Amino acid sequence: LIRMEGVNKVFGNFTALSDVSIDVREGEFLTLLGPSGSGKSTTLMCLAGFETPTRGRILYRGEDVTRLSPEKRGLGVVFQGYALFPHMTVAENVGYPLVVRKVPKAERDANIRAMLSTVGLGGYEDRRIQGLSGGQQQRVALARALIFGPKLLLLDEPFSALDRSLRGEMQSELARIHKELGTAFVFVTHDQDEALSLSDRIAVFNKGKMEQVASPSDIYEAPASTFVAGFVGKTN
Ligand code: ATP
Ligand code: MG
Repeated sequence: LIRMEGVNKVFGNFTALSDVSIDVREGEFLTLLGPSGSGKSTTLMCLAGFETPTRGRILYRGEDVTRLSPEKRGLGVVFQGYALFPHMTVAENVGYPLVVRKVPKAERDANIRAMLSTVGLGGYEDRRIQGLSGGQQQRVALARALIFGPKLLLLDEPFSALDRSLRGEMQSELARIHKELGTAFVFVTHDQDEALSLSDRIAVFNKGKMEQVASPSDIYEAPASTFVAGFVGKTN
């Protein structure tokens, strides 16, 4: 679906990504896992189009999108912090990407209703963002990112601000929504348990390099390096 080829990203004289190549498959749940500062968010920002690689290419269905703006890439993003419009209703927030795309009101309302029910917020159309819990706000952010039917959704530690029980609940909700929609998800976390339970494949990052990309069981049973073994796999 989208592929990074030999991507380097340099900030000043600091190399944040070095020679990263990943292929995101249609409909898969791919997790970028690694410690703080390993380059996960930078990878996501490059995929999203918010950062341009210093070197390398990004191909979306075979077409080079390295210099395309985020709007032109047609993907959904949920980054740390919700960045919802606090003074607007749930329906206005979720429908915003459709207003931008000039979708007629009747069609918009039907889509909003369907998407809110998908994320477990059926009937919340007219509620204000300010009155919602953290988990509910996160669901609104998901609905807004998915409303225009992107083939790819990028999520950067969306649950890091939630308490532990809510986090568990949102993880299973995310798994359910992924299955229901068939959208490819690229999900960033530094939590190995979260990665192992949610993913079709895990890409392990360390110091700007991708050390291994494989299924959770392969990562766990057959770590490709001592770093991967120490971070997720069996240590013996
Ligand atoms: P975390 O788990 O803490 O979110 P991460 O794996 O997402 O970490 P990145 O945010 O991708 O890490 O950062 C990788 C490295 O690149 C870090 O050392 C960071 O300081 C550096 N970096 C990221 N963005 C910039 C920037 N705009 N300017 C300078 N350095 C940056
Ligand atoms: Mg990050």
